[in-house]
Formats: sequence, C-alpha cells, structure tokens
Amino acid sequence: MKIDEKKCIGCRACSAISSSISISEDAEMRSITFHPHEDLTDRLIETCPTGAISSALTTESITLAFRMKRCSICGEPFATEREIEHVAALMPARFQKSWLDLCPNCRRDGQRRSHARQCILVRGRR
Ligand code: SF4
Repeated sequence: MKIDEKKCIGCRACSAISSSISISEDAEMRSITFHPHEDLTDRLIETCPTGAISSALTTESITLAFRMKRCSICGEPFATEREIEHVAALMPARFQKSWLDLCPNCRRDGQRRSHARQCILVRGRR
C-alpha cells in the first residue's frame, strides 16, 4: 500500500478498516501514520474518497499532518482543512458554502433555528 500525500485529505476513513493506520489528534493538528502492509489493500483503495491509496509496495512508514478546521461559531475543531476544501470543491455552486465553516452540532442548531423561524412566520400569517 502506498499513499499519495498530495491527494490524502486526512479523513481517517482508511483507519476504520486497518489497524496499520494510526491517528493522533489535538485541537490544532491531526496526524496519520501509515505503516507498510499489504493486507486489505483492495478494500482500502475502495474506501479512500480521493484515490490517495495505491497498491504499490512500500517498506517505510509515512506520517502526514493536517491542520484542523475550527467551527466558526463554537470554535471546536471538527475536520481537517483539506477535508473541507475537498468537499467545497465537490459542492454545486448554488449550495451555501458558509455551512462548511460550521461543525455538525452548530449546523443542526442552525437548521433547528431556521425551522423554528419558519413555524413562527407560518403561525403569524394565520
Ligand atoms: S481514506 Fe484516503 S484521504 Fe482519507 S485518510 Fe486515508 S488515505 Fe487519506
């Protein structure tokens, strides 16, 4: 298994199926270490959303570090900056990209507030 460090976005999907991939994370950075192995390579290639994994053989471990993205409301780190850039590039232009600055909890809170406002508006028309 070989990792293309230019394509890897630090999403951790591969670590969910291989114990040879380890993660360490704090509020600022996420580090992923890929240890050389051949097990599950086909499944790892299928799992990776960016095509960063190939079946080429390597003999050395590699560690990649990614800066974490903080929620613009609560300040919690919730993804790597490269994950967010990857998603932003895939989104249709009509989608509000400001949602990508929010963690999942703050997105849900925003949706609840929006629904509540709509309910109040509808009741006010009656
Ligand atoms: S699944 Fe792919 S992009 Fe995500 S951390 Fe693993 S190698 Fe990187």
